[in-house]
Amino acid sequence: MNEGRQSPKLIFEEKKAIKLFLWLFYIFFITYSLFWSVIIPKYTTFKHSENFMDGLGIWLYITVIGILPASIYIIKKGNLYFVKYFVFISYVVIDIVDNILRYFGTNKTFASGNIVELLFVFFAPIFVNKKYFWTVSLGIIGKYCFIGILLQDSDVLLPVISTIILVAISYILLTRFNSYIQSLTAAQEELHQKEKLALIGQMAAAIGHEIRNPLASLKGFAQLQHERFPEQNEYYPIMIQEIDRIDIIVNDLMFIGKPKSVQIEPTNMKDIIEYTVSIMRQQAIVQNIGIESSYAEHLPLIGCDEKHLKQVFINLLKNAIEAMPDGGTIKLNVQYLEDAGIIVSIEDEGCGIKSEDIPNLTVPFYTTKKSGTGLGLVVTNQIIKEHNGNINIESDLGKGTKVIVTLPVCQK
Ligand code: ADP
Ligand code: MG
Repeated sequence: MNEGRQSPKLIFEEKKAIKLFLWLFYIFFITYSLFWSVIIPKYTTFKHSENFMDGLGIWLYITVIGILPASIYIIKKGNLYFVKYFVFISYVVIDIVDNILRYFGTNKTFASGNIVELLFVFFAPIFVNKKYFWTVSLGIIGKYCFIGILLQDSDVLLPVISTIILVAISYILLTRFNSYIQSLTAAQEELHQKEKLALIGQMAAAIGHEIRNPLASLKGFAQLQHERFPEQNEYYPIMIQEIDRIDIIVNDLMFIGKPKSVQIEPTNMKDIIEYTVSIMRQQAIVQNIGIESSYAEHLPLIGCDEKHLKQVFINLLKNAIEAMPDGGTIKLNVQYLEDAGIIVSIEDEGCGIKSEDIPNLTVPFYTTKKSGTGLGLVVTNQIIKEHNGNINIESDLGKGTKVIVTLPVCQK
């Protein structure tokens, strides 16, 4: 995880984990030392091969205890995430020095590891940080290998093997924690994104509503002036055309922001497509485009909001026409498959879309056209989703685009 930009909650968790870790570290360390150096010699006849005054002797305890004030100082300085590394590295260095002083040049056999090391490995997943986890795991294994080579002693094998087993168990815990935190963060981000979009949508709907009334009077007066002064013909059609364009943008924005109530009625898809073609035919003829439509013989009715679905196919047909400035043919086909539903495909011979741009098509305001709004496919997508349908776009750059819309049929 990236420690650079974490939420206050996660920083708080890290602080709690560090505190708990320091407590446990000292409890384990002191208990373990007391156990072997005081309790065992005093109450049993068992003789440990280590003499606790060998090696660093009292300095071992002084330096290990010295880690605590240094750690508190580092936390106070704001390097919260560094403390765990500091504690671990300091401990390993002290331990190596102690072991070298204790065994190097003697014929004493190496007494296997310290329980504090188990704590390091077992506690590592709590910090949910892979880098730290591997530092600890490889650090401890490396320490034993180093001591083993230096002392030419194979007794280090036992702690190495037990550490490896523990590392494997801890690793499973770490990956579980990691995926849990990742899915939580992803869910939070998605929610945040949705809230943002909803807010933009609400604002757009409110502003759009306010814009429409003055726009209607502007259009009315422009038309009036045009009729009054027909000889000054030049600018009025452009003004009216531009006002219409603003109206389309506002309409789309209002649709995204505040979806209208859907009125589902059994409808024949053939009627919808024929209506759409009749509306768009004029624009197609102007651009020298032929529209060929074909329908399956038997088409069951679909449950839909007719007005909304007409909008979908107007948008798709408009895009196909706009992609073919040099003319060509658009093929419309309506099929029925029992397990898929009604399948409408719209195939053009236009400019096509780059494959890396396809994910952008449903991003609001994404457009490659000089006078595009980039809202057509957003609205289209939203309407199809409301109808529990699916839209799929396949495109070959320079050759053409095929849009496939699938919609469920009415339940019998
Ligand atoms: P607009 O048409 O206003 O640009 P749309 O949301 O309808 O907005 O489309 C977004 C973009 O997707 C278009 O600008 C265009 O680049 C691309 N596009 C959509 N349909 C097609 C098509 N049939 N052929 C080529 N490009 C297309
Ligand atoms: Mg469009």
